[in-house]
Amino acid sequence: MDELIEQIRLATQALAEFSVHLFNPTIRLGVTGLSHAGKTVFITALVHGLVRGGRFPVFEAMATGRIARAYLAPQPDDAVSRFDYENYIDALAAKRLWPASTRQISELRVVVDYQSLNGYQRTLTLDIVDYPGEWLLDLPLLTKSYEEWASESLRLSRQLPRADLAKHWHQHLATLDPNAPENEQEALTAARLFTEYLKACRAKNYAMSLLPPGRFLMPGELANTPALTFAPLDLSTEGPPPPGSLWAMMRRRYESYRTVVVRPFFRDHFARLDRQIVLVDALAAINAGPDALLDLQHALDQVLDCFQMGRRTLLSALLRPRIDRILLAATKADHLHHTSHDRLETILKRLTQNSTAKAELAGAQVDVIALAAVRATREAMVRRGRQQLPCVLGVPVAGETIAGEIFDGETEAAIFPGDLPEDPDELLDSEKKSFRGLSTTSSKNADFRFLRVRPPVLELTDSGVFSLPHIRLDRALQFLIGDRLE
Ligand code: GDP
Repeated sequence: MDELIEQIRLATQALAEFSVHLFNPTIRLGVTGLSHAGKTVFITALVHGLVRGGRFPVFEAMATGRIARAYLAPQPDDAVSRFDYENYIDALAAKRLWPASTRQISELRVVVDYQSLNGYQRTLTLDIVDYPGEWLLDLPLLTKSYEEWASESLRLSRQLPRADLAKHWHQHLATLDPNAPENEQEALTAARLFTEYLKACRAKNYAMSLLPPGRFLMPGELANTPALTFAPLDLSTEGPPPPGSLWAMMRRRYESYRTVVVRPFFRDHFARLDRQIVLVDALAAINAGPDALLDLQHALDQVLDCFQMGRRTLLSALLRPRIDRILLAATKADHLHHTSHDRLETILKRLTQNSTAKAELAGAQVDVIALAAVRATREAMVRRGRQQLPCVLGVPVAGETIAGEIFDGETEAAIFPGDLPEDPDELLDSEKKSFRGLSTTSSKNADFRFLRVRPPVLELTDSGVFSLPHIRLDRALQFLIGDRLE
């Protein structure tokens, strides 16, 4: 019954939007990716490029001068935060600091006045919706009972390397009797230890990606509410749970989570998107090793499954296909020498080949790209002994360390990022480990992580205008909105 009501609500909502869109073509572009994938930087650079005219040779409408102007306009949804574009661009350009990362949903409207290919003056409205990928990974919970979710989460947490990180939580779990009377303190402790385990998995060295429920990591305004105070229990018997038991309490709260968090997100935001870019910090996963890459692969499978779920709603069948284009983008490509950019793309293609095929079958066009929304490095060949190494030059963020050297945020370093293998399978195979990771030219041993570098120094034109350097951002734009500007 719930599902039917949802479907009717969705249908009414889309019908209203559909008639508005007839007279005012609008694209709702979802920008998602797990925490620190690069969403905030991507949107800031994209909006700046549109509004200020970036150097976008592959973005045809802009390159050929058909865009008369693009400007920000008030957003359509009053209950959603506004993407804080002005502060972010100021941080990037004036302070050379990266903006604050996405922690919740926000949106921004850009209106583009352009000339169509056959010479008419037209307007396209672009609504950009920024939301944490962690929330997206919650969508599969809509089809899982508490018991299914609990046993799946437990199974995953017993596999290495997760099992080591789950020790404290497992110890506490072993003391809990699901059939004993409900107890708030036990629920609080279980939820805290379970969250700590999820956070540990997310920590840099593991970079695990598959971690629902998403709000445990990105609580937004729901921190400390009962809807977030539950955890998996080790259940040996079939349901239903005894009334008043800890099990019943956990199950009730899991249901609340689905009602208060997951369903509204699906209805109010996800189901309304037309196009989607999924940003992926593939380099972080590559650095963390094959386990993290496999995890990322599963997470991306689930993400792409969610898009099919979006298409299966009654309404998309009735009115128009939702999400007809999906771009999967490996971010921060400027950490690599350009000789590796295509390889990074190939790796992401390999990680998503199965799920991409499924999404394409369902009617969405999918493309894969490696990009840097803001290019913060330059390239140079550096001699080490007799070898010439293709390096990137950048200013590591203050406090970053490599081989015992601590950077002050002012000094430039030449970083040898290593070569990505031509065959992506080498990365997934723990035996081969062909990618040695990063090293500075001064260190002998490869360090298995990337250095965060500061945003670039920008060249101002005489009129004080600047454009942000990037890698393939224009190709992304062309795929995401180019056809709607024809
Ligand atoms: P979000 O959590 O997805 O919003 O991620 P952010 O956009 O805040 O990016 C997280 C961090 O990744 C930033 O603080 C930067 O250090 C880094 N980053 C993001 N995009 C780029 C890029 O294009 N180039 C470089 N070099 N670093 C980037």
